[in-house]
Amino acid sequence: MFGLLALRVLCQASTLRGIRPSCATGVADGRHRRYRSPEGKARDTAARCCYTWLMSTTIIVGAGITGASLAYHLASRGHDTILIDSDLPGSGATRASFAWIGRPSTTALPSAPLRYMALDEYRRLEQELPHLAIRWSGALTWGALAEAGHSVHPGQVTALEPNLIDPPAGANFQREDAAFDPTVVTDQLVDAAVTNGAQLHVGTPVIGLERRSRTVTGVQTAEGLMPATTVVLAAGNGAVPLCRSIGLALPVAPSPAMLVRLHTTPDLVQRIVARPDLEVRQQPDGTVLVVIEYRGEASRSALADAGRRARQRVLESFRTREPVDVVSAQIGWRPMPADGEPIIGAERDVPGLYLAVLHSAITLAAAVGRLASDEITTGIEAPELAGCRRTRFGQAIS
Ligand SMILES: Cc1cc2nc3c(=O)[nH]c(=O)nc-3n(C[C@H](O)[C@H](O)[C@H](O)COP(=O)(O)OP(=O)(O)OC[C@H]3O[C@@H](n4cnc5c(N)ncnc54)[C@H](O)[C@@H]3O)c2cc1C
Repeated sequence: MFGLLALRVLCQASTLRGIRPSCATGVADGRHRRYRSPEGKARDTAARCCYTWLMSTTIIVGAGITGASLAYHLASRGHDTILIDSDLPGSGATRASFAWIGRPSTTALPSAPLRYMALDEYRRLEQELPHLAIRWSGALTWGALAEAGHSVHPGQVTALEPNLIDPPAGANFQREDAAFDPTVVTDQLVDAAVTNGAQLHVGTPVIGLERRSRTVTGVQTAEGLMPATTVVLAAGNGAVPLCRSIGLALPVAPSPAMLVRLHTTPDLVQRIVARPDLEVRQQPDGTVLVVIEYRGEASRSALADAGRRARQRVLESFRTREPVDVVSAQIGWRPMPADGEPIIGAERDVPGLYLAVLHSAITLAAAVGRLASDEITTGIEAPELAGCRRTRFGQAIS
């Protein structure tokens, strides 16, 4: 009773100081979702506002796979979490991804400790979210795209991939590798975040970062100011202008890659198959995903040509019994840091700002979500992220 009274007093105090409790931002239209448990519904609104205010609030800008995983991990720790996207979840590079998750073939990368955890973190996530739709098919690779793995002879290649017309003399098989539908898994993570209490704002572009002196204190949207103790930029390429607006140069540029979707009977391609001119895999519904080189396509007709090119390569590579149709061809603009390595961590010179901008984010999202959430909630730096700090590019505040 006394606790509730104290919370009410604090709530009034926060309002008097002009601090807007984050629950005040919730609007009951289709663009905002917040799960309310039976206990939550019973909780007095004033107490809820104070509770939110007393806890630290994290706003995540960007609901791609990175932001969705972060939102899930933060919310499942009971952390007050707001996830904002200018579009629907999974609308950025995530939507155009091939979504192959595997272990790295080299230990030389600064992000190697993070990359080595990637698959185990997805196994952990599967335990937490049993409906997570991951397909552990393994990957067959050869030529310049050969990844470290068990080397397999042509007979084994045929057993693994029976419809290949011309099996290579030697290939590698990465038994542990997997893939998933990136928009489905992003939605599953967002749903789990919302179930755990996160707020979701879709169709809400963040137009600026709010600052008091050097400290980031929230974000500006068309709906107004949303205050936060931490703002996470998981906005892919959209993080660049937001950083620029506060004088922070983020060395990230959009890197185009081409994804083509075909459709045929579901048993054409069994594994993830990668060779220099073709990456291909098939989903259980028959959709065949193909990554081919980007040739500067800049029109719908050029995309249609790319679709036909991908189809032709599949027809030349696999024995088909049924027609193979082109469903779509799209360019995904991957957020690519200048050295290809992830940029993750709290900005020392800009208190309240946390960056999570990376390539291979599908592979790394489960690990990044957990480690970054730990850093945000405890303030203790994760050693696995040590090679991922933006400061490796130098202090860039102007
Ligand atoms: C063809 C292709 C194949 C790929 N294959 C793989 C692969 O096999 N394995 C792998 O690991 N990776 C792969 N990638 C890369 C991977 O898809 C990306 O690294 C990943 O999707 C990036 O996710 P993200 O959540 O960080 O960014 P995004 O998915 O780009 O999400 C950013 C989100 O932020 C939102 N946003 C931006 N600005 C704002 C703003 N101002 N306000 C509000 N919201 C904002 C956007 O709407 C978007 O939803 C591939 C990419 C492509 C294109």
